[in-house]
Formats: sequence, structure tokens, C-alpha cells
Amino acid sequence: MATLILKRGAERRIRAGHPWIYRGEVADLRGSWSAGAAVDVTDSARRFLGRGFYSPRATLVCRLLTRVDEAVDGALVKRRLEAALQYRRVAGLVGSAYRVCWSEADGLPGLVVDRYGPVSVVQCLTLGMARHADWVRDALGRLFPDGEILRLDDPTAARIEGFEPVRETREAELIVDEGAGCFAVSLGAGHKTGLYLDQRENRVLVGSLARGRRMLDVFSYAGGFACHALLAGAASALLLDSSADALAQARRNLGLNGVEARATLREGNAFDGLRELQARGERFGLVILDPPPFTRHKSAVEAAARGYKEINLRALRLLEPGGLLATFSCSHHVTPALFEDICRQAAGDAAVPTRVLATLTQSRDHPVLLKIPETHYLTGLLLEAV
Ligand code: SAH
Repeated sequence: MATLILKRGAERRIRAGHPWIYRGEVADLRGSWSAGAAVDVTDSARRFLGRGFYSPRATLVCRLLTRVDEAVDGALVKRRLEAALQYRRVAGLVGSAYRVCWSEADGLPGLVVDRYGPVSVVQCLTLGMARHADWVRDALGRLFPDGEILRLDDPTAARIEGFEPVRETREAELIVDEGAGCFAVSLGAGHKTGLYLDQRENRVLVGSLARGRRMLDVFSYAGGFACHALLAGAASALLLDSSADALAQARRNLGLNGVEARATLREGNAFDGLRELQARGERFGLVILDPPPFTRHKSAVEAAARGYKEINLRALRLLEPGGLLATFSCSHHVTPALFEDICRQAAGDAAVPTRVLATLTQSRDHPVLLKIPETHYLTGLLLEAV
């Protein structure tokens, strides 16, 4: 096996529990290596730090899979997946659709597995995982003996890592439950692996607050928040999204839940939509803002902050007295503290006295590891106009 020898000092972050090795931290690569195969990682004095797959084309050349002297093989993948499933079983997170494995947070960097009914959807995010997808298939075959397995790699990750993404589709649509609601999923056709599972717990929470309120679901995607709100007795829901495909999916879900009569769908840019609603003097008792990440890079945080501030300012102005705003950011570089600050500025400019009812985060099947801050990416606030 080849060995990645780190530069002096580069081992500090690794020893503190972070699993990533950047290209610039590598002093030498000794021995015969192959792209995507496991390598040993040592500090500059050749002390063993761990083992992970080698990605020669990426900036992140290695993510540790283990810190002990054990084989990186199918048995390791199976042990990790078993532990991931056990955590979710004990925490009561196993449902009709949920995340079984979340990459670094479950000790399998580069691997995401989501379950939709009987189907395990596998996403390989590193070259090494893509090369060893058979190990994942075998392990899932044992964990879920009657299930199907579908591979749905992320094209962006595949380009960065230098492999051909495998994207399988499933002809038949699946219907999954979430709290009181049910949702249609066409695997291979939608965003992410099908649904935004990271918002599962927040959608259920929003449902519990919606009774009797006029709700506005901005960046609605397949209408998850709106369906929950309407099922819980919201007076009406207006869904805004720029994607016709997302709204078609939302229409299907509203119908499945028997709540379409109280819903209106509008295709368009959220910034314009919010401005128009304000110009018309509309008011809502519940507003959801769940935008896509406004930045994926640290360098663009300021521009992203301006975007978040604008939509939050506009949303706060649309609230009736006692109205609620559930607002989110899924940009990892926007920390909870920064997000709170952005919302504070928005509330200041909107001149709306605002109470924080709750701080929100990603569902617990997307666990956060304290020593890997990148695992915490979804932050949100539940605000009330008082
Ligand atoms: N709340 C959803 C997930 C939202 S994902 C859920 O719980 O499932 C973000 C959505 O924002 C996507 O559907 C995307 O089509 C939409 N979107 C992206 N940019 C937009 C824009 N500028 N205006 C309106 N919608 C936008």
C-alpha cells in the first residue's frame, strides 16, 4: 500500500479529529499507488495517522476512513453501515424515507445512502467510493435483504473527483410517508436523492404550527412544507418556486394529500414574488423561506448574506401580527451566528419586533460531528412577529 506523508504540522488538525487531507499538506507519496485505492497516511515523522482512499485529481486528496491499523475493505463498510443504521434505530429516526448514511458524519466519507420505502439510493461522492461501490452494494444487500439498490451519483462531485457518475432511474414512482403526509418520489428525476430529507423534522414542526393560518411556502420544491401545513389545517397555502418541474411535483403531492383545493402554485423568482406580494399588501400567518445555498464558497459569503437579508426582510414585512417565519440557510459557510445576525438586520430594517421561538437545524438522520464542523450546514430560525 502507498503512503501519504504529511508536511510537518499538517497532522495537527487530523489528530484533533478532522478526517480531511488537502493536496497542499502532502510532503510525499511513497510506494505504488492507484487512483481511488486506499493509502496509509502518516505525519512527517512517519507515524501512522490512518487510512483512506486516494483522490489524485481533487484538492481534498484523502479523507480518513479509519485511524487504526485495520483493512479498508467490504467488512469495514458493512460495520460502518450497521452502526449508522443502529444509531438511527435507537434514536427513532427510521421512517418511510430517511438518510441511512451521511458521509463523514457516519465514518464513511464520500458515501450517502438514503432509503425510500424498499429502495436504498446510493450516492458516491469520492473516486474511492465510486471504485468500491460493490462493497456498498453487498453491505446494503445484507442489511436490507428484500430491498432494491439504486445508484445516483452527484455529477458535480464526480467531476471534481474525476469519475463518471452512475445515475440509475426507477420507472415506478414510490409513495413515502412523512408524519401525517405522503409524498411521491420519482427516483433519479428530482433534486438530491429525491426529497430534501434534511428538512423532514422541520416540515413536521411547521405542520404543528399551521392551524388556521394563511401560509406562504417560498422555494417550495415538491411542496413538503405546504402539504404539512394544509394537512394540519392551514387556511390556504401559496407555493413559490422558479422550477416548473418542482411545482408539477408539488401539485402531485398536494393532490395525494387531498389538500389541493386550498393551494395556489406560482412559478417565478422568489425575490420578485416576495416584492409583488408586498406591493399588493398581502399578509400571511406563516411564511417558509428554504432557499438553495446562496454560496458554496467562503469568498462569496458577503454576497450570500445580502441575498439572505433581502428575502428575510421581505418575508418579515409580509407577516401579520403574531405571524410566524421559519427561515433557513443551507450554506455551510453561513454559520448559525452569522445567520442570526442577518435576520437581526432584516428585522431591524423591516421594523418588525421579532421573537425567536426556536433555533432550527438539519434532521437528526444528518448527524453533526463536533470535530467536523462541515457536517453542520443547515441552520434556521423560527421567528414570530410580536
Ligand atoms: N423546501 C423544500 C426544499 C427547497 S429546495 C422542501 O422541504 O422539500 C430549493 C428550491 O428553490 C428548489 O425547488 C429550486 O427550484 C428553488 N429555487 C432556486 N432558486 C430560486 C429562485 N431564485 N426563486 C424561486 N425558487 C428558486
